Amino acid sequence: MIDFSLTEEQKKLQLKAREFAINEIIPISRKYDQSGEFPQDVLQKAFDQGLMNTIFPKKIGGPGLGILDTCLIVEETAAADPGITTSLFDNCLGAEPILIGGTKEQINRFLKPLTEELKFIAFATSEPGMGSDVAGLTATARVEGDELILNGRKMWVTNGGVASLLSTFCRLEGTKRHEGITGIVVPMNTEGVKVGKPIPKMGHRASNTVMVRFDEARVPLENILGELGKGFPIAIQTFAHTRPTIGAFACGMARASMEYAIAYAKRRKAFDSKIANFQAIQFMIADMKINVDAARLLTWKAAWEADQGRDNTISASIAKAFATDSGMKTASDALQIFGGYGYTTNYLVEKLFRDAKLYQIYEGTSQIQRMVIGRYMLSRYTPIFDKTLT
Ligand SMILES: Cc1cc2nc3c(=O)[nH]c(=O)nc-3n(C[C@H](O)[C@H](O)[C@H](O)COP(=O)(O)OP(=O)(O)OC[C@H]3O[C@@H](n4cnc5c(N)ncnc54)[C@H](O)[C@@H]3O)c2cc1C
Repeated sequence: MIDFSLTEEQKKLQLKAREFAINEIIPISRKYDQSGEFPQDVLQKAFDQGLMNTIFPKKIGGPGLGILDTCLIVEETAAADPGITTSLFDNCLGAEPILIGGTKEQINRFLKPLTEELKFIAFATSEPGMGSDVAGLTATARVEGDELILNGRKMWVTNGGVASLLSTFCRLEGTKRHEGITGIVVPMNTEGVKVGKPIPKMGHRASNTVMVRFDEARVPLENILGELGKGFPIAIQTFAHTRPTIGAFACGMARASMEYAIAYAKRRKAFDSKIANFQAIQFMIADMKINVDAARLLTWKAAWEADQGRDNTISASIAKAFATDSGMKTASDALQIFGGYGYTTNYLVEKLFRDAKLYQIYEGTSQIQRMVIGRYMLSRYTPIFDKTLT
Protein backbone atom coordinates (compact mmCIF):
# COMPACT_ATOMS: atom_id res chain seq x y z
CA MET A 1 0.00 0.00 0.00
CA ILE A 2 1.41 3.40 -0.93
CA ASP A 3 0.53 6.41 1.21
CA PHE A 4 1.54 9.94 0.20
CA SER A 5 -0.08 11.65 3.18
CA LEU A 6 1.84 13.35 5.96
CA THR A 7 1.21 12.52 9.61
CA GLU A 8 -0.47 15.12 11.83
CA GLU A 9 2.94 15.85 13.43
CA GLN A 10 4.50 16.36 10.00
CA LYS A 11 1.71 18.71 8.93
CA LYS A 12 2.26 20.74 12.12
CA LEU A 13 5.99 20.82 11.48
CA GLN A 14 5.45 21.98 7.90
CA LEU A 15 3.11 24.74 9.07
CA LYS A 16 5.50 25.82 11.80
CA ALA A 17 8.36 26.08 9.27
CA ARG A 18 6.09 27.94 6.83
CA GLU A 19 5.12 30.49 9.47
CA PHE A 20 8.76 30.89 10.45
CA ALA A 21 9.68 31.44 6.79
CA ILE A 22 6.96 34.06 6.30
CA ASN A 23 7.41 35.91 9.60
CA GLU A 24 11.14 35.63 10.26
CA ILE A 25 12.94 35.01 6.96
CA ILE A 26 11.10 36.85 4.16
CA PRO A 27 11.26 40.27 5.91
CA ILE A 28 15.07 40.14 6.29
CA SER A 29 16.02 38.05 3.23
CA ARG A 30 16.86 40.98 0.93
CA LYS A 31 18.93 42.72 3.62
CA TYR A 32 21.19 39.70 4.14
CA ASP A 33 21.50 39.07 0.40
CA GLN A 34 22.72 42.62 -0.09
CA SER A 35 25.08 42.76 2.90
CA GLY A 36 26.36 39.17 2.72
CA GLU A 37 26.27 39.25 6.52
CA PHE A 38 25.88 35.94 8.39
CA PRO A 39 22.23 35.61 9.54
CA GLN A 40 23.05 34.85 13.18
CA ASP A 41 19.84 36.36 14.62
CA VAL A 42 17.52 34.37 12.32
CA LEU A 43 19.44 31.17 13.00
CA GLN A 44 19.17 31.83 16.73
CA LYS A 45 15.37 32.05 16.32
CA ALA A 46 15.32 28.85 14.23
CA PHE A 47 17.43 27.11 16.88
CA ASP A 48 15.11 28.30 19.66
CA GLN A 49 12.10 26.95 17.75
CA GLY A 50 13.66 23.51 17.11
CA LEU A 51 14.05 24.09 13.35
CA MET A 52 17.82 23.54 13.36
CA ASN A 53 19.82 20.38 14.13
CA THR A 54 16.70 18.46 13.13
CA ILE A 55 18.36 15.04 12.85
CA PHE A 56 20.18 15.29 16.20
CA PRO A 57 18.85 12.41 18.34
CA LYS A 58 16.49 13.07 21.24
CA LYS A 59 18.87 11.17 23.55
CA ILE A 60 21.33 14.06 23.35
CA GLY A 61 18.65 16.76 23.50
CA GLY A 62 18.06 17.16 19.75
CA PRO A 63 14.70 17.32 17.93
CA GLY A 64 15.12 13.67 16.86
CA LEU A 65 13.47 14.23 13.49
CA GLY A 66 13.96 12.22 10.32
CA ILE A 67 15.31 13.21 6.92
CA LEU A 68 11.80 13.46 5.45
CA ASP A 69 10.81 15.77 8.33
CA THR A 70 13.91 17.83 7.57
CA CYS A 71 12.84 18.03 3.90
CA LEU A 72 9.45 19.41 4.97
CA ILE A 73 11.14 22.16 6.98
CA VAL A 74 13.76 23.15 4.42
CA GLU A 75 11.29 23.30 1.53
CA GLU A 76 9.50 26.05 3.46
CA THR A 77 12.60 27.99 4.52
CA ALA A 78 14.28 27.68 1.10
CA ALA A 79 11.13 29.10 -0.51
CA ALA A 80 11.79 32.19 1.61
CA ASP A 81 15.58 32.26 1.29
CA PRO A 82 17.88 29.54 -0.11
CA GLY A 83 21.06 31.11 1.32
CA ILE A 84 19.80 31.38 4.88
CA THR A 85 18.54 27.80 4.55
CA THR A 86 21.99 26.60 3.51
CA SER A 87 23.35 28.03 6.76
CA LEU A 88 20.42 26.66 8.73
CA PHE A 89 20.81 23.10 7.43
CA ASP A 90 24.62 22.95 7.56
CA ASN A 91 24.75 21.59 11.13
CA CYS A 92 22.91 18.50 9.88
CA LEU A 93 25.52 18.07 7.12
CA GLY A 94 28.35 18.47 9.64
CA ALA A 95 26.69 16.05 12.06
CA GLU A 96 25.94 13.26 9.54
CA PRO A 97 29.49 11.78 9.46
CA ILE A 98 29.41 11.58 13.26
CA LEU A 99 25.94 10.01 13.33
CA ILE A 100 26.98 7.54 10.62
CA GLY A 101 30.54 6.68 11.67
CA GLY A 102 30.91 7.93 15.24
CA THR A 103 30.58 6.10 18.56
CA LYS A 104 27.90 6.95 21.15
CA GLU A 105 30.62 8.71 23.13
CA GLN A 106 31.58 10.84 20.10
CA ILE A 107 27.94 11.68 19.33
CA ASN A 108 27.57 12.81 22.92
CA ARG A 109 30.87 14.69 23.07
CA PHE A 110 30.57 16.52 19.75
CA LEU A 111 26.86 16.97 19.15
CA LYS A 112 25.30 17.38 22.60
CA PRO A 113 26.88 20.84 23.15
CA LEU A 114 25.28 21.93 19.86
CA THR A 115 21.84 21.14 21.24
CA GLU A 116 22.43 23.29 24.34
CA GLU A 117 23.19 26.59 22.62
CA LEU A 118 23.53 27.86 19.06
CA LYS A 119 26.87 26.61 17.81
CA PHE A 120 27.96 25.41 14.39
CA ILE A 121 29.59 22.31 12.95
CA ALA A 122 30.79 22.53 9.34
CA PHE A 123 31.61 19.80 6.80
CA ALA A 124 34.54 19.60 4.42
CA THR A 125 35.55 17.15 1.76
CA SER A 126 36.23 19.68 -1.04
CA GLU A 127 39.65 21.21 -1.61
CA PRO A 128 41.01 23.92 -3.93
CA GLY A 129 42.11 21.25 -6.43
CA MET A 130 39.15 18.88 -6.22
CA GLY A 131 35.46 18.76 -5.37
CA SER A 132 33.72 16.09 -7.45
CA ASP A 133 36.39 13.43 -7.09
CA VAL A 134 36.24 12.86 -3.32
CA ALA A 135 38.66 9.91 -3.54
CA GLY A 136 41.20 12.35 -4.98
CA LEU A 137 41.43 14.49 -1.85
CA THR A 138 44.98 15.45 -0.90
CA ALA A 139 44.90 16.89 2.64
CA THR A 140 47.05 14.56 4.74
CA ALA A 141 46.98 12.98 8.17
CA ARG A 142 49.81 11.21 9.99
CA VAL A 143 49.73 9.49 13.35
CA GLU A 144 52.14 10.70 16.00
CA GLY A 145 51.61 9.16 19.43
CA ASP A 146 47.98 9.64 20.35
CA GLU A 147 47.47 12.45 17.84
CA LEU A 148 46.70 12.87 14.16
CA ILE A 149 48.65 15.67 12.46
CA LEU A 150 46.74 17.34 9.63
CA ASN A 151 48.11 19.32 6.69
CA GLY A 152 46.39 20.72 3.60
CA ARG A 153 43.50 22.94 2.58
CA LYS A 154 39.74 22.54 2.48
CA MET A 155 37.75 24.76 0.15
CA TRP A 156 34.17 26.08 0.12
CA VAL A 157 33.51 25.23 3.74
CA THR A 158 29.96 26.39 4.47
CA ASN A 159 29.69 28.00 7.95
CA GLY A 160 33.45 27.38 8.33
CA GLY A 161 33.99 30.94 9.58
CA VAL A 162 31.51 30.57 12.42
CA ALA A 163 31.86 26.88 13.30
CA SER A 164 33.36 25.49 16.48
CA LEU A 165 33.78 22.02 14.93
CA LEU A 166 34.57 20.65 11.47
CA SER A 167 33.77 17.15 10.19
CA THR A 168 36.40 16.52 7.59
CA PHE A 169 38.33 13.92 5.64
CA CYS A 170 42.10 13.62 5.15
CA ARG A 171 44.26 10.82 3.76
CA LEU A 172 46.98 8.95 5.60
CA GLU A 173 50.32 10.02 4.13
CA GLY A 174 51.46 7.79 1.27
CA THR A 175 48.01 6.37 0.43
CA LYS A 176 46.08 6.75 -2.83
CA ARG A 177 42.44 7.15 -3.85
CA HIS A 178 39.84 5.54 -1.51
CA GLU A 179 42.47 3.81 0.60
CA GLY A 180 43.63 5.77 3.66
CA ILE A 181 40.87 8.38 3.72
CA THR A 182 40.05 9.13 7.33
CA GLY A 183 37.05 10.93 8.80
CA ILE A 184 37.92 13.22 11.68
CA VAL A 185 36.28 15.89 13.80
CA VAL A 186 38.48 18.96 14.15
CA PRO A 187 37.84 21.63 16.82
CA MET A 188 38.22 24.91 14.95
CA ASN A 189 40.23 26.44 17.78
CA THR A 190 42.99 23.83 17.28
CA GLU A 191 46.42 25.39 16.81
CA GLY A 192 47.32 25.16 13.12
CA VAL A 193 43.73 25.51 11.87
CA LYS A 194 43.37 28.75 9.94
CA VAL A 195 40.17 30.13 8.43
CA GLY A 196 40.15 32.34 5.32
CA LYS A 197 37.98 35.34 4.55
CA PRO A 198 34.39 34.76 3.34
CA ILE A 199 34.44 33.95 -0.40
CA PRO A 200 32.28 36.44 -2.38
CA LYS A 201 29.49 34.60 -4.21
CA MET A 202 26.85 35.04 -6.91
CA GLY A 203 24.03 33.77 -4.68
CA HIS A 204 23.49 32.24 -1.23
CA ARG A 205 25.22 35.37 -0.07
CA ALA A 206 23.98 35.07 3.51
CA SER A 207 25.74 31.74 3.92
CA ASN A 208 29.34 31.87 5.11
CA THR A 209 31.78 30.09 2.74
CA VAL A 210 35.50 29.97 3.54
CA MET A 211 38.73 28.11 2.96
CA VAL A 212 40.19 26.23 5.96
CA ARG A 213 43.88 25.48 6.17
CA PHE A 214 45.54 22.78 8.28
CA ASP A 215 49.13 23.53 9.10
CA GLU A 216 50.48 20.75 11.36
CA ALA A 217 47.13 20.81 13.18
CA ARG A 218 47.14 18.25 16.03
CA VAL A 219 43.88 16.44 16.73
CA PRO A 220 43.50 13.60 19.27
CA LEU A 221 43.05 10.10 17.82
CA GLU A 222 39.82 9.86 19.79
CA ASN A 223 38.34 12.30 17.23
CA ILE A 224 38.67 9.79 14.36
CA LEU A 225 35.32 8.62 13.00
CA GLY A 226 35.22 4.85 12.52
CA GLU A 227 38.53 3.21 11.69
CA LEU A 228 41.71 4.97 10.72
CA GLY A 229 41.94 4.98 6.91
CA LYS A 230 38.39 3.68 6.39
CA GLY A 231 36.51 6.96 6.16
CA PHE A 232 35.54 7.05 2.46
CA PRO A 233 32.23 5.16 2.90
CA ILE A 234 31.29 7.57 5.72
CA ALA A 235 31.60 10.50 3.30
CA ILE A 236 29.55 8.72 0.63
CA GLN A 237 26.81 7.69 3.08
CA THR A 238 26.69 11.27 4.32
CA PHE A 239 25.86 12.47 0.79
CA ALA A 240 23.12 9.83 0.43
CA HIS A 241 21.52 11.27 3.56
CA THR A 242 21.92 14.94 2.68
CA ARG A 243 21.18 14.95 -1.07
CA PRO A 244 17.41 14.48 -0.60
CA THR A 245 17.49 17.65 1.50
CA ILE A 246 19.12 19.55 -1.37
CA GLY A 247 16.22 18.26 -3.51
CA ALA A 248 13.85 19.80 -0.95
CA PHE A 249 15.80 23.08 -1.03
CA ALA A 250 15.31 23.16 -4.80
CA CYS A 251 11.58 22.36 -4.48
CA GLY A 252 11.12 25.30 -2.12
CA MET A 253 13.07 27.71 -4.32
CA ALA A 254 11.20 26.53 -7.45
CA ARG A 255 7.81 26.72 -5.75
CA ALA A 256 8.43 30.32 -4.71
CA SER A 257 9.69 31.24 -8.22
CA MET A 258 6.53 29.69 -9.70
CA GLU A 259 4.24 31.55 -7.31
CA TYR A 260 5.90 34.91 -8.01
CA ALA A 261 5.60 34.21 -11.77
CA ILE A 262 1.89 33.34 -11.52
CA ALA A 263 1.12 36.53 -9.56
CA TYR A 264 3.06 38.66 -12.06
CA ALA A 265 1.49 37.00 -15.12
CA LYS A 266 -1.97 37.79 -13.72
CA ARG A 267 -1.25 41.51 -13.47
CA ARG A 268 1.17 42.28 -16.34
CA LYS A 269 -0.43 43.35 -19.62
CA ALA A 270 0.90 43.06 -23.19
CA PHE A 271 -0.98 43.29 -26.50
CA ASP A 272 -4.08 44.50 -24.56
CA SER A 273 -4.24 41.31 -22.54
CA LYS A 274 -2.95 39.92 -19.26
CA ILE A 275 0.12 37.87 -20.16
CA ALA A 276 -1.42 34.99 -18.15
CA ASN A 277 -3.89 34.64 -21.06
CA PHE A 278 -1.11 33.65 -23.48
CA GLN A 279 -0.69 29.93 -23.94
CA ALA A 280 3.10 30.25 -24.07
CA ILE A 281 3.02 31.65 -20.53
CA GLN A 282 0.48 29.06 -19.35
CA PHE A 283 2.68 26.23 -20.64
CA MET A 284 5.69 27.61 -18.79
CA ILE A 285 3.63 27.72 -15.59
CA ALA A 286 2.29 24.21 -16.22
CA ASP A 287 5.85 22.92 -16.64
CA MET A 288 6.81 24.61 -13.37
CA LYS A 289 4.02 22.78 -11.55
CA ILE A 290 4.93 19.44 -13.18
CA ASN A 291 8.56 19.89 -12.16
CA VAL A 292 7.91 21.04 -8.59
CA ASP A 293 5.50 18.17 -7.91
CA ALA A 294 7.70 15.52 -9.52
CA ALA A 295 10.79 16.84 -7.71
CA ARG A 296 8.99 16.72 -4.38
CA LEU A 297 7.85 13.12 -4.90
CA LEU A 298 11.37 11.98 -5.83
CA THR A 299 12.77 13.88 -2.87
CA TRP A 300 10.32 12.44 -0.38
CA LYS A 301 10.96 8.91 -1.69
CA ALA A 302 14.74 9.28 -1.30
CA ALA A 303 14.31 10.78 2.18
CA TRP A 304 11.85 8.08 3.22
CA GLU A 305 14.26 5.34 2.09
CA ALA A 306 17.04 6.91 4.18
CA ASP A 307 14.73 7.12 7.21
CA GLN A 308 13.92 3.41 6.74
CA GLY A 309 17.63 2.59 6.89
CA ARG A 310 17.65 1.48 3.25
CA ASP A 311 20.48 2.17 0.83
CA ASN A 312 19.13 5.32 -0.87
CA THR A 313 22.25 6.22 -2.84
CA ILE A 314 20.52 6.00 -6.23
CA SER A 315 17.20 7.56 -5.23
CA ALA A 316 19.13 10.41 -3.55
CA SER A 317 21.09 11.10 -6.75
CA ILE A 318 17.93 10.89 -8.88
CA ALA A 319 16.10 13.30 -6.56
CA LYS A 320 19.01 15.73 -6.35
CA ALA A 321 19.63 15.75 -10.12
CA PHE A 322 15.97 16.15 -11.08
CA ALA A 323 14.98 18.66 -8.39
CA THR A 324 18.00 20.90 -8.93
CA ASP A 325 18.04 20.82 -12.75
CA SER A 326 14.29 21.35 -13.03
CA GLY A 327 14.51 23.94 -10.25
CA MET A 328 17.07 25.89 -12.27
CA LYS A 329 14.72 25.80 -15.28
CA THR A 330 11.79 26.96 -13.16
CA ALA A 331 13.81 29.86 -11.74
CA SER A 332 14.91 30.82 -15.25
CA ASP A 333 11.37 30.62 -16.69
CA ALA A 334 9.98 32.62 -13.77
CA LEU A 335 12.49 35.37 -14.51
CA GLN A 336 11.53 35.16 -18.20
CA ILE A 337 7.87 35.75 -17.31
CA PHE A 338 8.91 38.92 -15.48
CA GLY A 339 10.61 40.13 -18.69
CA GLY A 340 12.98 43.07 -18.13
CA TYR A 341 11.77 43.60 -14.57
CA GLY A 342 12.92 40.08 -13.69
CA TYR A 343 16.45 41.10 -14.54
CA THR A 344 16.43 43.87 -11.93
CA THR A 345 17.23 43.46 -8.27
CA ASN A 346 13.77 44.83 -7.44
CA TYR A 347 12.10 41.43 -7.74
CA LEU A 348 12.89 38.27 -5.81
CA VAL A 349 12.94 36.10 -8.96
CA GLU A 350 16.36 37.60 -9.71
CA LYS A 351 17.68 36.50 -6.31
CA LEU A 352 16.12 33.02 -6.59
CA PHE A 353 17.67 32.61 -10.07
CA ARG A 354 21.14 33.35 -8.62
CA ASP A 355 20.52 31.08 -5.64
CA ALA A 356 19.16 28.22 -7.78
CA LYS A 357 22.48 27.70 -9.57
CA LEU A 358 24.32 26.49 -6.48
CA TYR A 359 21.93 23.57 -6.06
CA GLN A 360 23.29 22.05 -9.29
CA ILE A 361 26.83 22.35 -7.92
CA TYR A 362 27.21 21.56 -4.22
CA GLU A 363 26.77 18.12 -2.64
CA GLY A 364 27.80 16.65 -6.01
CA THR A 365 27.15 18.38 -9.32
CA SER A 366 24.36 17.31 -11.68
CA GLN A 367 27.00 15.52 -13.75
CA ILE A 368 28.23 13.57 -10.72
CA GLN A 369 24.67 12.49 -9.85
CA ARG A 370 24.33 11.17 -13.42
CA MET A 371 27.65 9.39 -13.06
CA VAL A 372 26.38 7.63 -9.90
CA ILE A 373 23.10 6.68 -11.61
CA GLY A 374 24.80 5.67 -14.87
CA ARG A 375 27.30 3.40 -13.12
CA TYR A 376 24.47 1.71 -11.24
CA MET A 377 22.42 1.21 -14.42
CA LEU A 378 25.34 -0.44 -16.20
CA SER A 379 26.40 -2.68 -13.33
CA ARG A 380 23.77 -3.49 -10.72
CA TYR A 381 20.45 -2.69 -12.43
CA THR A 382 18.45 -5.82 -13.31
CA PRO A 383 16.49 -5.44 -16.57
CA ILE A 384 12.87 -6.53 -16.24
CA PHE A 385 12.94 -8.06 -19.74
CA ASP A 386 16.30 -9.68 -19.01
CA LYS A 387 15.55 -13.04 -20.67
CA THR A 388 13.92 -11.68 -23.80
CA LEU A 389 16.80 -9.28 -24.47
CA THR A 390 19.61 -11.86 -24.58
C1 LIG B 1 28.80 28.10 -2.12
C2 LIG B 1 29.39 26.73 -2.02
C3 LIG B 1 29.30 26.05 -0.82
C4 LIG B 1 29.91 24.79 -0.71
N1 LIG B 1 29.90 24.15 0.52
C5 LIG B 1 30.66 23.04 0.69
C6 LIG B 1 30.83 22.48 1.99
O1 LIG B 1 30.27 22.94 2.99
N2 LIG B 1 31.66 21.41 2.12
C7 LIG B 1 32.31 20.86 1.05
O2 LIG B 1 33.04 19.88 1.22
N3 LIG B 1 32.15 21.37 -0.20
C8 LIG B 1 31.35 22.45 -0.39
N4 LIG B 1 31.20 22.99 -1.64
C9 LIG B 1 31.97 22.42 -2.76
C10 LIG B 1 31.10 21.70 -3.77
O3 LIG B 1 30.62 20.50 -3.24
C11 LIG B 1 31.97 21.51 -5.03
O4 LIG B 1 32.13 22.79 -5.63
C12 LIG B 1 31.35 20.54 -6.01
O5 LIG B 1 31.35 19.25 -5.49
C13 LIG B 1 32.09 20.55 -7.36
O6 LIG B 1 33.44 20.45 -7.18
P1 LIG B 1 34.44 21.47 -7.94
O7 LIG B 1 33.93 22.84 -7.70
O8 LIG B 1 35.81 21.16 -7.51
O9 LIG B 1 34.25 21.15 -9.46
P2 LIG B 1 35.08 20.05 -10.30
O10 LIG B 1 35.08 18.77 -9.58
O11 LIG B 1 36.38 20.65 -10.68
O12 LIG B 1 34.17 19.94 -11.59
C14 LIG B 1 34.15 20.94 -12.60
C15 LIG B 1 33.12 20.56 -13.64
O13 LIG B 1 33.46 19.29 -14.22
C16 LIG B 1 32.40 18.38 -14.06
N5 LIG B 1 32.94 17.04 -13.83
C17 LIG B 1 33.86 16.67 -12.91
N6 LIG B 1 34.09 15.35 -13.00
C18 LIG B 1 33.30 14.88 -13.98
C19 LIG B 1 33.07 13.59 -14.55
N7 LIG B 1 33.72 12.51 -14.12
N8 LIG B 1 32.19 13.48 -15.56
C20 LIG B 1 31.52 14.57 -16.01
N9 LIG B 1 31.69 15.82 -15.52
C21 LIG B 1 32.56 15.96 -14.51
C22 LIG B 1 31.59 18.89 -12.87
O14 LIG B 1 30.25 18.43 -12.92
C23 LIG B 1 31.71 20.38 -13.06
O15 LIG B 1 30.76 20.80 -14.00
C24 LIG B 1 30.55 24.21 -1.81
C25 LIG B 1 30.60 24.90 -3.03
C26 LIG B 1 30.06 26.15 -3.15
C27 LIG B 1 30.17 26.87 -4.46
